[in-house]
Amino acid sequence: MSYQLVWFKRDLRSQDHLALSEASRQGPVRCIYIVEPQLWQQPDVALQHFEFIKESLEDLNVVLGQYGGCIEVHYGEVIEVFSKIIQEAPFLQLHSHQETGNRFTYLRDQKVAIWCKQHQITWHEYQQFGVIRGLKNRNQWDLAWEKLMSSPIQTIGQMHFWKTSSKIPLSMPAPKKLLHNPPQRLRGGRRLAIATLNSFLNARSIGYRGGISSPLLAPDACSRISPYLAFGCISMREVIQQTRLVLAQLPPQAVRHRAGLTAFISRLHWHCHFIQKLESEPEIEWMNMHRVYDGLRENNFNEELFEDLKNARTGWPMVDACVTMLGQTGWLNFRMRAMLVSVAAYPLWLHWRPVGEWLATQFLDYEPGIHWSQLQMQSGTTGINTTRVYNPIKQAQDHDPKGYFVRKWLPTMRKVPDSWLLEPWLMTQEVQMNSGLQLGVDLPVPKVDLKSALKESKDRLHARRKKPAVKAGKAEIVNKHASRKILERNTKKESKKVNANQLGFEF
Ligand SMILES: Cc1cc2nc3c(=O)[nH]c(=O)nc-3n(C[C@H](O)[C@H](O)[C@H](O)COP(=O)(O)OP(=O)(O)OC[C@H]3O[C@@H](n4cnc5c(N)ncnc54)[C@H](O)[C@@H]3O)c2cc1C
Repeated sequence: MSYQLVWFKRDLRSQDHLALSEASRQGPVRCIYIVEPQLWQQPDVALQHFEFIKESLEDLNVVLGQYGGCIEVHYGEVIEVFSKIIQEAPFLQLHSHQETGNRFTYLRDQKVAIWCKQHQITWHEYQQFGVIRGLKNRNQWDLAWEKLMSSPIQTIGQMHFWKTSSKIPLSMPAPKKLLHNPPQRLRGGRRLAIATLNSFLNARSIGYRGGISSPLLAPDACSRISPYLAFGCISMREVIQQTRLVLAQLPPQAVRHRAGLTAFISRLHWHCHFIQKLESEPEIEWMNMHRVYDGLRENNFNEELFEDLKNARTGWPMVDACVTMLGQTGWLNFRMRAMLVSVAAYPLWLHWRPVGEWLATQFLDYEPGIHWSQLQMQSGTTGINTTRVYNPIKQAQDHDPKGYFVRKWLPTMRKVPDSWLLEPWLMTQEVQMNSGLQLGVDLPVPKVDLKSALKESKDRLHARRKKPAVKAGKAEIVNKHASRKILERNTKKESKKVNANQLGFEF
């Protein structure tokens, strides 16, 4: 008897899993995950991603075991694995979620489509987020998003497995040479996804509005749901519906709590909004969204400055503390991510692609669609967003004036007197002696002068921005990528009211 092959990718759950629920309606299912050697050699992956997936698969395996099945883990390139499987036990239907991934997965999926055609296999690809394949423009996008998010959660009732023994323990060694697994990162799996979401919805979200921009408060005030969404341990629709349920039950006086959850829902909307950009234009993983910016930074890449950034040795304490925290935890809040990219793109004048590859390995929640769109936005190459340049000294002043954050992550900063916290490289010899510190030895000294480097970089960008070609190319980008909510607001001349705090970005 044949079976329905369910191919798990970045959707490591059984609930609200359209591929699994549809497949199980059609017959016995066989669930597989494929460890693809070439995928794990790409520059945007890290050991932390692999281990998180492994933990999530272990969790999923327990759940499938309760239905009498398991998830099989196969090693090899996808076509090789499918060819082997079909020879051993033929199947006619392949089920998976659509994936908006990196160039490797994009090309791999094209090969899978051809292979399926050649073998008369029907490949059912299901929508996983509010991202629409083959979208022509953004006009109806918000409506479609809402429709999907308010439609019923897919549950699995009866599920029959093809020939597998239950509760197979997972054996999943990591591909060789994979690096970077932060000691304090979140662990994978649906149970932890649900626990994280519940603790946020019921308690932590009260601090969301005031806390998300502060690197000290954000680890608790933000939901921390991102890696669970990125690897599909929980579906976006589940998160939205659960949030709305909690919102509906709040008493009228729970003003802060309500504000936090409402702002959270708008972020969840952005998740799909950003992934849609990469889905509609996969080239933005490699090329400037507005091609007028081609050649702006490509030929001036300073490797030494990039190494300093990666090694938390820029000399700007806020930047170095963020890089250190990221290396230890795999996470940073939005504001600090934006600051890191801004520092890379403006005073250090680094092109976004190598910076983005490095950050992709650092972020546990690496989601290509959000990541590359944000990298371009914060580097000023989209042609449709206001240039936002974050000064790391001002960020420290605003978000860590007493130095708690920098001293937490940079132990040498504990010796720096309060009055030198923002610009420790200006400490006099005497202050250094009294503090037991030596500049250039214990503390790095910035290699670029921040003020002049910021000015020069802004001038360079604005000179490019003035070119008539910017305006000419803008309409097409807006049509394809811009949020209709923002356009509506702009036409009502309300855009000026959008302030620069994190709750009011334009896309
Ligand atoms: C340069 C840069 C790169 C980024 N790369 C990623 C990435 O690879 N993966 C990723 O999930 N997020 C990315 N973000 C967006 C954002 O920083 C993270 O989603 C957020 O910090 C994750 O923590 P959280 O789940 O606690 O967020 P919360 O504030 O609790 O938000 C809840 C969810 O909303 C979505 N969300 C929040 N902010 C944004 C945003 N600005 N754009 C799109 N979706 C958003 C995410 O799915 C997030 O999990 C990036 C931001 C920048 C500036």
